[in-house]
Amino acid sequence: RLYNEVIELKGNIRVFCRCRPLNQNEISDGCNSVIDYDSSQDNELQVICSDSSKKQFKFDHVFKPDDKQAVFAQTKPIVTSVLDGYNVCIFAYGQTGTGKTFTMEGTPENRGVNYRTVEELFRILEERGGIMRYELFVSMLEVYNDKIRDLLVDNNNQPAKKLEIKQSADGTQEVPGLVESRVYGIQDVWELLKSGSQVRSVGSTSANEQSSRSHCLLRVTVKGENLINGQRTKSHLWLVDLAGSERVGRIEVEGERLKESQFINKSLSALGDVISALASKTAHIPYRNSKLTHILQSSLGGDCKTLMFVQISPSAADIGETLCSLNFASRVR
Ligand code: ADP
Ligand code: MG
Repeated sequence: RLYNEVIELKGNIRVFCRCRPLNQNEISDGCNSVIDYDSSQDNELQVICSDSSKKQFKFDHVFKPDDKQAVFAQTKPIVTSVLDGYNVCIFAYGQTGTGKTFTMEGTPENRGVNYRTVEELFRILEERGGIMRYELFVSMLEVYNDKIRDLLVDNNNQPAKKLEIKQSADGTQEVPGLVESRVYGIQDVWELLKSGSQVRSVGSTSANEQSSRSHCLLRVTVKGENLINGQRTKSHLWLVDLAGSERVGRIEVEGERLKESQFINKSLSALGDVISALASKTAHIPYRNSKLTHILQSSLGGDCKTLMFVQISPSAADIGETLCSLNFASRVR
């Protein structure tokens, strides 16, 4: 109920901000957080600048460093609406090291949105067993340098098959050849997530380096059939761990790194353009400017639901990137 009221008020795009805790190094360096919260508001934060001035930002919700994976409580109603036939996209945006992967994937002890979502989907579909019949499928892919790579295909280190986006007869975007794995329970999904992450990190010397420069997309396809009236639905839930949003100085990098960061900048600004065009109800939505937005076209806009986690660091050393991320978020809200 409450959820519907929020939707009517704010439309289908929501932005949450999440600040990670200071890490061990920052604490031993005597670093203080430059992020301040208003204890009476759960949707505001202030950034304390070096001249002690404060910049205030508002979101649909602000999560504090000690909120842990309880962020899922706020996320749950959005992701589970995929069972009612809505297309849903959840993004984690921010500088590398701010907790995008922590939010989406989490750790084995502290599982994130991806795992908790699918667990919740299975719980609800059990509950609805007498009225609805559902089939769930999982795909996992990576967008790197504007190329799509299937993370669930086992190609024994052969060069990956090139995947393209095609428009299907009903006007939705499809990726022919992408593996869609039927899943019957949370354990199936857990195994797929593990093997997908494995594939993602192969081909790079450091898993963390690779993951910060590509977008990782998990897609859950839900096919539903109403057992009473026979009505069928098909919907997609996309859970997206975006590439790091940090700007890379031109002088610092060249060659491959420069190319990578240009693709990242281009795709993240294309995503910002699409979401802000949707938020301002502009007629033309520029989906085609990057593979990332093109692949998500059918799941962004219309009555689709979108949630972006803007991840930030509390450290003074990161304040420049933090302000960039918060400004980006204000643009899409
Ligand atoms: P990103 O994916 O944005 O590069 P990570 O998710 O890898 O960042 O997070 C960087 C580090 O910070 C990891 O060690 C992660 O476990 C930790 N971390 C991030 N967010 C939190 C949080 N909210 N609580 C505790 N640890 C966190
Ligand atoms: Mg990451």
